Amino acid sequence: MATIPAFADLVTCLQGLPGVGPKSARRLAFHVLDMSPARAESLVFAIQRARERTRRCSTCHALTESDPCGLCSDTSRDQHLLAVVEEPADVEVLERTREFRGHYHVLGGALAPLKGIGPDDLHVADLLERVAREKVAEVVLATNPNVEGEATALYLARRLRPLNIRVTRLALGLPVGAALEFADDVTLSRSLQGRREV
Ligand code: ZN
Repeated sequence: MATIPAFADLVTCLQGLPGVGPKSARRLAFHVLDMSPARAESLVFAIQRARERTRRCSTCHALTESDPCGLCSDTSRDQHLLAVVEEPADVEVLERTREFRGHYHVLGGALAPLKGIGPDDLHVADLLERVAREKVAEVVLATNPNVEGEATALYLARRLRPLNIRVTRLALGLPVGAALEFADDVTLSRSLQGRREV
């Protein structure tokens, strides 16, 4: 198939997606080519429209079509409760549980010294500023239950301590070494309910 440049190009593009290896990329490419023209067009259109219309909320950095996002501008939510997550996808994961009724702050990753990712590469400075400005009473550290997520939670707890607010961490029960997005809703709800002070 390497002799068909258009097919090879499509495979290369798909292979760049997370979790897609060479075999999956080829399978997906064949699948795309087997689609009806209408379905293939709507796939292309959906990618283009999502890229054009979505951006990051300037307050919480979650994915949104309007700025501030619907979550930040929802006055029925608890303004004094703030969950800190690594990625925009984690906001959706926590929202799915319907357990959390506060606001969010997306860091844009986790601390990873070996990869050269420090606090300045994440939305840490404006988190501290937001907590003070919005008179936040509790910050729930909902970073992933893996090494980098734990290190990030510890770091943030240390930075937040002088602000004299309640700082909590999701309870155990989440699979260690995993990511929030792979936890089921019941486990996540329980870990929110049982969050502990750090
Ligand atoms: Zn927002």
